[in-house]
Amino acid sequence: MEKKKIFLSSPHMSDEGYEQKYIKEAFDTNWVAPLGENVNQFEKEIANYVGSKYAAALSAGTAAIHMAFKALDVKKDDIVFCPSLTFSATANPIIYQNATPVFIDSEKETWNMDPKALEKAFEKYPNPKAVIVVHLYGIPAKIKEIKEICDKHNTPLVEDSAESLGATYEGKQTGTFGKYGVYSFNGNKIITTSGGGMLVSDDEERIAKVRFWSTQSREKARHYEHKEIGYNYRMSNIVAGIGRGQLKVLDDRIAKKTEIFNTYKEAFKDIPQIEMHPALENTKPNYWLSVITIDENASVKPIQIMEALEKENIETRPVWKPMHMQPIFESYDYIQVEEKSVSEDLFNRGVCLPSDTKMTKEDMDRIIKVIKELFK
Ligand SMILES: *Cc1c(COP(=O)(O)O)cnc(C)c1O
Repeated sequence: MEKKKIFLSSPHMSDEGYEQKYIKEAFDTNWVAPLGENVNQFEKEIANYVGSKYAAALSAGTAAIHMAFKALDVKKDDIVFCPSLTFSATANPIIYQNATPVFIDSEKETWNMDPKALEKAFEKYPNPKAVIVVHLYGIPAKIKEIKEICDKHNTPLVEDSAESLGATYEGKQTGTFGKYGVYSFNGNKIITTSGGGMLVSDDEERIAKVRFWSTQSREKARHYEHKEIGYNYRMSNIVAGIGRGQLKVLDDRIAKKTEIFNTYKEAFKDIPQIEMHPALENTKPNYWLSVITIDENASVKPIQIMEALEKENIETRPVWKPMHMQPIFESYDYIQVEEKSVSEDLFNRGVCLPSDTKMTKEDMDRIIKVIKELFK
């Protein structure tokens, strides 16, 4: 018989059925689509949770990144600085706006955008239109330093916090340091609406404009009047209902993800070839995924760990393949300060371990046993 499947990170609805309650309300009032009370409330609740003034609920995190760039008037021939070590959805919207990405290497303390490499990028390209930073796997970047550098160069900052909802830096939520913050509610994220995203900002006018563009740029007129290109990017009222329910259990999910990370950390503390994803002292990660790196001189290679776990029906993933190594992006510039590219090294040595909040102690024991066996 096939062993019970263990997922990397799968949807986890509340035990209390909060999501169903909000969906039922939407049905009962026939507010199934498009907008409605759940959308309005979900925007307010997210803004309130993260400590931002305004929010626009959208169909995806990618749409939110796209709208952030559009709101910043990123356009043809503009340059946008972007971390290389991320998911492609961080970089794709730069291209949607016909702008040019310049990829930036990671530092070793959090694996996120290296402030030193960012400084170097500003020396080479003094006038980028925007900087986008990512808090990878829920570990906050050196956001204060990055923000200071951006301020010094009068360049707006966008935070792709798709993976880091609820994570904090000196008590302040990731996604609220820059001009715009982006969250994702895709199926694998720490909370999910099946699919969806949110753009947050303190700029009321820009958020209103994003809502306008996202509903096909319909001018206020009885007929359909269009002065600008529109997008169909709004979140539906049903999806927002799921989000409202999920938000109620976000803190529980963070607690469980933290426990999962600490369980791995404890289990591998006597295996010097395994290192946990590091974080800064003054930050509180949400530990969306627990990620390890394997020493390059270890006899066990990351692929062996992934294959051994796969045989046991346990899902894993390598660390994101850097954007500057991707066929679609390899013609763009890549800025590094370390002799050896940090993002490439992390890609070569990293393994994302199962971080599913529905895992039991037995599930975790199974995973840990397979890995420990390899290092014996
Ligand atoms: C998931 C993710 C996105 C995209 O979010 P979607 O809601 O799936 O469009 C963007 N950036 C990062 C870093 C992500 O992990």
